[in-house]
Amino acid sequence: MDNKRRQFLKTGLAVGGVGAFAAGYAVTAKHMADGAIKGTAGQATRDIHHGNSLEPEYSLNTAGNLVPNPNQRVAPSMCFGCWTLCGLRVRIDNQSDDILRISGNPYHPLSHEQHIPFETPVKQAYLA
Ligand code: SF4
Repeated sequence: MDNKRRQFLKTGLAVGGVGAFAAGYAVTAKHMADGAIKGTAGQATRDIHHGNSLEPEYSLNTAGNLVPNPNQRVAPSMCFGCWTLCGLRVRIDNQSDDILRISGNPYHPLSHEQHIPFETPVKQAYLA
């Protein structure tokens, strides 16, 4: 193999390697550039401590009373992913009707071995 051809192949491999590397890291490089320019690579952070986490479903006021979040509602449902048929709690945004989060229903006997008795008021269960 003559030197010109060898040099051409080496250059081609080097350019191909650099191109593959650049293509593989293009998204990461974009995130780095966005982070440097905008201060974040994704959605702007709403809260310095809680980030972009969901608003809580309820809170406790200074008197210790439970205050539900007026922007959300909870609907009981069931998962049909398998034969267990777990009970679920579906948190829904009141304005958009989007589902915010799905979690297990602690009242549902198929969701937990030690489920909360049905006669327990929701407020008491939340406070517990
Ligand atoms: S959540 Fe329950 S019903 Fe749904 S897939 Fe898992 S075990 Fe099955």
